[in-house]
Amino acid sequence: MVSDELIEEIRAQADIVAIVGEYVQLRRSGRTYRGPCPLHKGEGPNFSVDPARGIYKCFVCGEGGDVFAFPMKLLGLEFVEAVKFVAERCGIIVPETDTRRAEEDPYRDLREAVAFAAEWYQRQLWDEPHGEAARTYLLVRRGFPEEAVRRFGFGYAPDAWRALREAAAVLEIGDEVLLKVGLIKQSERAKEPFDHFRGRLMIPIYDLRGRVIGFGGRTLAQDADAPKYINSSDSPIFHKGKIVYGLNWSRHAIRRQEVFLVVEGYMDYAALAACGIENVIAPLGTSLGEAQARLLSRYAKRALLLYDSDRPGLVATFKAADELLRAGVHPSVATLPQGEDPDSIVRKGGAEALARHTEDAVDVLDRKIQILQQRGYLDTIEGKRRAVDGLLLTARAAKDEALRDIYLDRVAAVTGVRRATLERELARAESGWRRRRAASSPAPAPAEAPIPKLGPERKLLLLLLRDTALIPRVAQLVEPASFRVPAYREIYSALIATHGSPSQAGGGESEVSLAWAEQLPPPLHERVMELRADPEELTNPESVLEETIARLRGRALEKRLADLMTEVLVADTSAAVELAEQIKKTRQELAALGSRLPGRGLFRGE
Ligand SMILES: [Zn+2]
Repeated sequence: MVSDELIEEIRAQADIVAIVGEYVQLRRSGRTYRGPCPLHKGEGPNFSVDPARGIYKCFVCGEGGDVFAFPMKLLGLEFVEAVKFVAERCGIIVPETDTRRAEEDPYRDLREAVAFAAEWYQRQLWDEPHGEAARTYLLVRRGFPEEAVRRFGFGYAPDAWRALREAAAVLEIGDEVLLKVGLIKQSERAKEPFDHFRGRLMIPIYDLRGRVIGFGGRTLAQDADAPKYINSSDSPIFHKGKIVYGLNWSRHAIRRQEVFLVVEGYMDYAALAACGIENVIAPLGTSLGEAQARLLSRYAKRALLLYDSDRPGLVATFKAADELLRAGVHPSVATLPQGEDPDSIVRKGGAEALARHTEDAVDVLDRKIQILQQRGYLDTIEGKRRAVDGLLLTARAAKDEALRDIYLDRVAAVTGVRRATLERELARAESGWRRRRAASSPAPAPAEAPIPKLGPERKLLLLLLRDTALIPRVAQLVEPASFRVPAYREIYSALIATHGSPSQAGGGESEVSLAWAEQLPPPLHERVMELRADPEELTNPESVLEETIARLRGRALEKRLADLMTEVLVADTSAAVELAEQIKKTRQELAALGSRLPGRGLFRGE
């Protein structure tokens, strides 16, 4: 017995081209791979494998199916054997007795609503007169081939208040579901809910199984007031922080090429993918986050960042690079000419033009050094001081110890500060309450830390599950983003959503307080049950609460401090003064937080 969840994980991870390729000599032919059919032992190239869709098909004998069907047909395996066969090839271990419950998808109605919308938006783009402007934009102004636009599933949301809502109603998809997936909105001024996306080019966002889970919408109006992009809000099936745009199409190419290109947005992705560059991804409208970096690190350990060369682009580059370093990925940075972006470069010169720039990519630390040199930071004592801070930020982020070592040597060589001093500085950069820990284990690298036995996240959840009346107060102080363990973060979010306001909170361990947990996906639900069963005694809960909150806030402040230190490096003079002031304040806040914490003992999990 293997759970559906694990089967899907294996399917998502599997490289069907590699698996079929063990038995068939495959040649690339456009988006698919062709070879002689091993099933009817054909000789012509009539057997086709489509990596984007994860399927194979023979045009002569008609056999076809997914990555599990192939070994079943070819080797005569049973389904479970075939699953294990594929799992082995993508490094996933199938437990002998997989205890996870194989249940029906609890979000089927949400998925169906989103799938309907994706198809409806596409029909508006291709078949309706009001799709004209969007078609012109894509096919003429952007110059995308029609085949590519169809492959990406782009669509058009007409400039009308309730067009999608009305079309959905015909299929009995109601407001409640549409609200949950963020396709319609409610406002106090309007009596009826209205479409969230209006007059926008619609970019469907897919999960690794190729299912649409959310949308990005790009405005087509010249109106400068409208935000250029809006995204679906997070929903039970769509978590922006965990999804990377394009990975559903790119992941096998990324595995093969062992490097991925990071571009800023959907249109850059589309431009590169349309001209045959396959190993590209884009974060979703925001900067690349921790969970996204970790996801990507499973596919390749090298990244090439292709952002604009303007100031916001540089800040985004360095922030993304630090996240990647923390996830154990080594990032390089390609410098594009002023005013150019990946899209404009391939539009003018195709893939070769882009390749000329990517060949000149430099390591991210070297890129930072280049910028600091250009801006004269290394010419003055004050500037050098700031440069050391900025460079150590990158050195500290490197999870790979050998790389961190190289970085420290490099920083020492460039700034003239002795290496021993830099090492001390690196330890000092850890704020007060983390310094103690740093002294015993110099590698911070929290990214893949095992779930702490009794870290602050778990402690806080234990307290909140035992007394839900605490939740509104905690919700004011701790953001879900401060949680590092994804499962804990989701449970915390669910607690806030259901108990976050004083009227919802209720008290103690009432029966009612478990209804919210029933709504969670089975693995999270089990984790909640496990937390509730934990007999750990927390003496003096009030002070434990204060400490855990302080620790989680400390993390948020550290993140903010790191962001500010990156921004100050590329800021102009007047902005730099302001940022320096904020850095000082954040440092003081952190120090104040540290002094309120006890020295030892309590947090053995941290
Ligand atoms: Zn065949």
